[in-house]
Amino acid sequence: MTAIHDVDLPTVGLTGFEPPLSEVEAAVHDSLHRFAKDVVRPLGQKLDRMSAAEVIAPGSPFWEFHQTVAQMGFDPTTFAEQGPMAAARIEALLGEEFGWADVGLAISVGAAALPLTVAREVGRQELIEMCTGKIGCWVITQPDRGSDCGILYSNEYHPLSPHGNKGNLTARVTADEIVLNGQSSAWVSNGSIAQVGMLYVAADYGDGYYEDNGRPFGVALLCPLDVPGVSRGKSLEKLGQRALPQGEIYFDNVRVPKRFALALRDEYLANHAFNWSNAGLGMCHAAAGVARAAFEYALAYVHERKQGGVSLHEHQLVLYRLGVMGRKVEMIRAVARRATEYAKLSPHRHPYYTAQAKVTCTEEALTVANEALQLLGGNGLAHDYPMEKLLRDARAMTIEDGENYITTTRFGGLLSRLHQNGWARES
Ligand SMILES: Cc1cc2nc3c(=O)[nH]c(=O)nc-3n(C[C@H](O)[C@H](O)[C@H](O)COP(=O)(O)OP(=O)(O)OC[C@H]3O[C@@H](n4cnc5c(N)ncnc54)[C@H](O)[C@@H]3O)c2cc1C
Repeated sequence: MTAIHDVDLPTVGLTGFEPPLSEVEAAVHDSLHRFAKDVVRPLGQKLDRMSAAEVIAPGSPFWEFHQTVAQMGFDPTTFAEQGPMAAARIEALLGEEFGWADVGLAISVGAAALPLTVAREVGRQELIEMCTGKIGCWVITQPDRGSDCGILYSNEYHPLSPHGNKGNLTARVTADEIVLNGQSSAWVSNGSIAQVGMLYVAADYGDGYYEDNGRPFGVALLCPLDVPGVSRGKSLEKLGQRALPQGEIYFDNVRVPKRFALALRDEYLANHAFNWSNAGLGMCHAAAGVARAAFEYALAYVHERKQGGVSLHEHQLVLYRLGVMGRKVEMIRAVARRATEYAKLSPHRHPYYTAQAKVTCTEEALTVANEALQLLGGNGLAHDYPMEKLLRDARAMTIEDGENYITTTRFGGLLSRLHQNGWARES
């Protein structure tokens, strides 16, 4: 009698149960992964142990890293010629690989590229030149303007609050210039080092800061950060993503030409919405990377460690826990990719939708990192193992780019608004 063969194992790659990649995608992915493994991950682990001041001190490897990345040309717009679906997939692979290697560095690279990416989108040569070769940042939160900065509809203000929050950094917009005064929050990614900023601030166009409905007017602009009147706070010491420098930026009567504006009074909110939705996508892919890293470490560990006389992976409960983690990694990736395809392909994207994807991806990444740490037992807590860093890094993601409870609430508000507008009424 001939033996019946086992079912063949499925095709699986670095990014899990991935449909076949095209030749270009596979080549890009391959070189990305090598860079992530050989350069980004070891560097992230090294920077994690340094103080926030040491990370950005002259001679720190952080600087060489940024130079290398800038020369590699991994800007997602480079892949636009592959068509929207392929570009979306390459963007996903890029974000996942960087997140897998070190999420703090992933965010630093993403924030660094933002002003140039936006300058290219608006296609203004002066702005492109101003941002080329510069480390960028995105300045939107301020000491007294946190979750408030993401409000898109005036009915989202608290009923007891007479109007929205103009925060501590404001602009006066005149016929030919924008004058900035105040400060950002300490949480601006790359804030302590950036050379150019993408700013979203409340603005007075000569008739006060507020519309009749209480909403602050705004201006979005690109601002060089080496001009008179700009100064910095210290780099922030924090729990996770320690390779990412963060800190306040102060503006004392900083004057820039009005032509540096990306969006004035009437276009401000739509512009904010568009760029926030891009940021949310980057967070989703980075979360897929963090979750995958944690899962892979745990998977390897349960094949090395013995308890009860056998390798951990021979215990059925451990297989169940691996299965739960593995399906979460697949789910995070799926949610991240769907949000990216939606944002790239649909005529009207929305940041509350991409932000809810960010919530799912980061919440699940945190549970995977937590369970992976648990599977390492006491070793999960030790500095000599990578798990405690991954847990700290993942923890920060649930607050970064919009705190998760608030963004979920805003998504609920959006669903209700859609329903009132006729959506989902057929059942
Ligand atoms: C790693 C990291 C990177 C970041 N990068 C940047 C950056 O590049 N640029 C930038 O400008 N900012 C950045 N931020 C700031 C980030 O966007 C804010 O931390 C976030 O939006 C939350 O704001 P907050 O910290 O002021 O918290 P708050 O808004 O003060 O919230 C505090 C708590 O109150 C709750 N809360 C707030 N409002 C309400 C409400 N209306 N109803 C009920 N509960 C409420 C929240 O759920 C939360 O639990 C970053 C933050 C982190 C952690």
